[in-house]
Amino acid sequence: MSIRPLVILPDARLREISAPVGTITGDVRKLAADMLETMYDAPGVGLAGIQIGEAVRIVTIDTSKEKEERKPLVLLDPEIVWTSGETRPYEEGCLSIPDYYAEVIRPDRVRVRFRTLDGETVEREADGLLATCLQHEIDHLNGVLFIDHLSKLKRDRVMKKFAKAAKREAA
Ligand code: ZN
Repeated sequence: MSIRPLVILPDARLREISAPVGTITGDVRKLAADMLETMYDAPGVGLAGIQIGEAVRIVTIDTSKEKEERKPLVLLDPEIVWTSGETRPYEEGCLSIPDYYAEVIRPDRVRVRFRTLDGETVEREADGLLATCLQHEIDHLNGVLFIDHLSKLKRDRVMKKFAKAAKREAA
C-alpha cells in the first residue's frame, strides 16, 4: 500500500469520466488499498479514483468519527438508484479543493448499488453524512465537483483562486 499524490483543482483530470472497473484483479485491490491509505492520511472521509489520477469507478469512504473504530467502505461501479424527495444542506469540502468549504443542497437519503471487492452486488440505503458523501464521490466519477452545485459567482471565484495558486507554484 502507498500514499499517492492528490490531484488538485484546476487539474483537468478532475473533469474526466471514469471507466467501469471490469474484472476485479490484483491491481484493482491494490488501487483500493492505496485509496484508503491516501484518504486516511489526508485525512478525508471519501475519495474517488480520479483524485489520485486513476480514472476508474472506485470510491472509498469512511464516515466513522475520529475516536471510533475505522469502517472502510470500498464501492466499485457505484450508482445512485433512488434519491429522497427531501433535501438537506451540508457543508462540503474536497481533498482536491483544499481548504475550501461551502454548503451544498442534496437529497437527504439515497440508495446506492455497487459491487464489493468480493464481486458481490449490493444495494444500500444511506442518510446524513454518508448520503452526502456518496453523492459527492459518485459525482467525481462523472467529472463533477461539489463547486458545480454552487452559484456561478461562487464557483468562478474558487476556480480563479486555484488557477492563480497553480500559476504561482509553476513559476
Ligand atoms: Zn471531492
